[in-house]
Amino acid sequence: MGRLIVIVLVVLAIVWLLKRAMAGPASGKGKAGEPPAPGTPQGDLVTCAHCKVNLPKAEARSAGGLHYCSEEHWRLGPRDG
Ligand SMILES: [Zn+2]
Repeated sequence: MGRLIVIVLVVLAIVWLLKRAMAGPASGKGKAGEPPAPGTPQGDLVTCAHCKVNLPKAEARSAGGLHYCSEEHWRLGPRDG
């Protein structure tokens, strides 16, 4: 029974080493799934004139030079304050 555990551990170690080797040298820089560059918008960001949330221009609704995050806020219009 003890031998089986050793074999399993050795196999797991080999799989881990192979995965590490395949990931390449670029994988050694911290967290995975990190956004490409914080503060660099992917396309133009606009601010909702109603709730002031930032969103990509492609997803915003535009009216009269103002942008809105949703159809609801587009209907409600700009909000001051
Ligand atoms: Zn909004």
